[in-house]
Amino acid sequence: MAGNWKMNMDHLEAIHLVQGLHQELTDANFDYTKTEVVVIPPFTDIRSVQTLVEGDEMGIKYGAQDVSVHEKGAYTGEVSATMLKKLGVSYIVVGHSERREYHNECDKKVNTKARVALDNGMTPIICCGEGLEVRKAGEHVAHVLKQIDGGLEGFSAEEVAKSVIAYEPIWAIGTGEVATPEDAQEVCAAIRVRIGELYDADTAAATRILYGGSVKSSNVADIMAKEDVDGALVGGASLEAVEFSKIARFD
Ligand code: PEP
Repeated sequence: MAGNWKMNMDHLEAIHLVQGLHQELTDANFDYTKTEVVVIPPFTDIRSVQTLVEGDEMGIKYGAQDVSVHEKGAYTGEVSATMLKKLGVSYIVVGHSERREYHNECDKKVNTKARVALDNGMTPIICCGEGLEVRKAGEHVAHVLKQIDGGLEGFSAEEVAKSVIAYEPIWAIGTGEVATPEDAQEVCAAIRVRIGELYDADTAAATRILYGGSVKSSNVADIMAKEDVDGALVGGASLEAVEFSKIARFD
């Protein structure tokens, strides 16, 4: 269960939110061995989150929302994988639809960023998903599978099995319009079948596939009940400790 904070929360608010989340999960006797809980703050909060999570030995993990394709050097404004690794980052979101739309990130770039994450010992959360026009035209599965083919290009079976895929229909992100559990299942299942075709059945079964798009505590259980949905990538509802802790428990 991953919470993408996007460009929200300064470092003090981040500390408050993670403390609150930890408290809620502790009170609920949360079992971190069954469900991983990941917060994905802006870069400026990561050091504060690291200090808190490591200092209090919390089970919560944390990620970054993006990574540079470059190792180091004259790339103003960029943050490298080695910098993130040093901060104890476990996950890196690549190819979020907002990066694809506002920063022109194509499948090739997404693939390179995922490669950079893996090469530096972190897990990419590779996002894919269709816009409303594509969905209305009934081309959503083909569209997403093309993104998957491009995103995973050159990966070994072991690397795919280590990665996380997040299916996020763009029309459901931040809109309050959640895909039905059947919509989520249809595409998550198609992604798993494609991984099976590209690699093998074991790799397909091992790869974690998340759904994202207006997930809330009130709809998460029905989505999680679907066979090929292994977790959720949550935006807005991850900014509130009680709500996100309920989502993580999806009961
Ligand atoms: C997201 O941006 O990854 C997301 C799923 O956002 P929201 O949950 O707010 O729709």
